[in-house]
Amino acid sequence: MSESERALNVNVFTAPEKPLVAERPRPFGAPMAWDPMTSTLIYGEYDAVLVDPLTTVTEAGALADWVALHHRNLTTIYITHGHLDHFSGLGVLLRRYPEARAIATPGSVELARAHGRALPAFRKWFPGQMPATLTLPEPYEDETFTLEGHELRIIEQGHTDGKNSTSLYVPSIDLVVGGDVLYNQCHAYVAETTPEIRENWIAALDRLAALNPKTAVAGHKKPGAPDTSECIETTRRYLTDFGRLQEETSTDRELFDAMHALYPDFAAKQAWLMFGLS
Ligand SMILES: [Zn+2]
Repeated sequence: MSESERALNVNVFTAPEKPLVAERPRPFGAPMAWDPMTSTLIYGEYDAVLVDPLTTVTEAGALADWVALHHRNLTTIYITHGHLDHFSGLGVLLRRYPEARAIATPGSVELARAHGRALPAFRKWFPGQMPATLTLPEPYEDETFTLEGHELRIIEQGHTDGKNSTSLYVPSIDLVVGGDVLYNQCHAYVAETTPEIRENWIAALDRLAALNPKTAVAGHKKPGAPDTSECIETTRRYLTDFGRLQEETSTDRELFDAMHALYPDFAAKQAWLMFGLS
């Protein structure tokens, strides 16, 4: 059997929603919290690739322990996009797995560098939980890399919940790791979006739907939600509903209440996802 005939496996780690400590008043009385997040391990017989190393030192440490349970060599850490919550745990992972190379697209590294300026704000929200320094991934120019002979394909998705976002596609096991193109039973960070950005985001979702994946992992998901392609359609509906209700309502409060009436069971009910943090 040649190397690439052995099938890859996938396992998803979910870090639960975490409270956000902030001095500002709680908008609309909603608790301040960060959406639960995922990190995905793709592994073969000997080697493994980890996607998105989470935010806090505690999360990244727990993730590193969980990766160790798989008894594979961690060769690569791929970062889907340059938002701090998806890569600030990188230094912790690299100390545990110094042989791994951490990569992201040049666009993601550029955003990571810029978004690194949000570290003081993250320190305020998560006191004592953020790493002392930030480690950035290396810019990776190619569209693909491999794991035991299997291709992993980077899909450039443009501006979705942030700039220069990507998804990762693993054709041999019909897997999409969506990054923040996908949200699974979680309120999405739509504060930065305009109608044009949401149009691009929906095109990104169409790109993933066209791959007809068996497994689709969202960057943020409610713990226990299944990693099925249903979240592609749900994210599309969420964005469409948000755009429509933004037109139909006249105040932030009305929009906030209308979205939460439509999605009462989604994780992390909070205003900042819709209206920003400043
Ligand atoms: Zn995110």
